[in-house]
Amino acid sequence: MKLATYRAHGEERIGLVMQDLVVALAPELNGLTLPPGNWSRDMLAFIQAQESGLEAAGRVQQAFERGLVKDAAVSELASVELLAPLLRPVRNIFCVGRNYREHVEEGDRVWKGAAGVSEACIFFTKATTAVNHPGKPITGYGLTRELDYECELGVVIGRGGRDIAREDALKHVFAYTIVNDVTARDLQQSHRQWFKGKSLDGFCPMGPWLVTADEFSHPLALEMRLTVNGELRQRMNTRDMIWDIPAIIESLSRGLTLLPGDIIATGTGAGCGFAFDPPRFLRPGDVVRAEIEHIGILENPVV
Ligand code: MG
Repeated sequence: MKLATYRAHGEERIGLVMQDLVVALAPELNGLTLPPGNWSRDMLAFIQAQESGLEAAGRVQQAFERGLVKDAAVSELASVELLAPLLRPVRNIFCVGRNYREHVEEGDRVWKGAAGVSEACIFFTKATTAVNHPGKPITGYGLTRELDYECELGVVIGRGGRDIAREDALKHVFAYTIVNDVTARDLQQSHRQWFKGKSLDGFCPMGPWLVTADEFSHPLALEMRLTVNGELRQRMNTRDMIWDIPAIIESLSRGLTLLPGDIIATGTGAGCGFAFDPPRFLRPGDVVRAEIEHIGILENPVV
């Protein structure tokens, strides 16, 4: 199931993406009797509704396939404004650093370090106000000369929990999406930590929608690529993560409760702008396109 947050006729909605259409989950539009609640307006509420949300979405899907959904609920995908699937995350977006060997190597080469692969999974966060939408601009606000990109698989937690064992971890995943972990490298360096340089407003483009976990088989082997103005910069596969998704969830949840709707960006591969010689940072006018197999395309202009 592909679940999108979008704006149509001036209203924010969530809906099911089916080919080139999106079907609103709003009961008042599709004419179906569905459980009441704001789960139909807000993806976080939908995820918090757990099984009842997914059941309702399943019923909308079946009704649509039988031609029983009212026209008012159906929009051409091309005619709606897609928004970040989770507009207001429950808290900061969790991120994994240095999770692909070639990206670890390019970092050590450029920053003259020999940190190598760390003993434990590296976590940091991005502020919720960094969330950005498909197609919307990324800007450095004149604060950075080193604006960079990182294509990453985003994991959305469905069922929360603490001390989640590796073998149970995938039961806690609700869906997958694409995250661009936009980074101001100079701020990252000058502030000597990762938060500020990765948390400016708009530094977390996300989308174009969520694809529910039942559509994926494990271990995940999804091709990911990122282009700038059509030129290939990053190409990696999720099978090359140093810490795979069960390991990330096990490590993060140790003594720390994960919540429904938490988002985890799982790290990027080689080919970041800083690693080219000379570096190739983003410039106004560029178009960044992040793509993950079975999910879709997340494209943003730079201004
Ligand atoms: Mg990253």
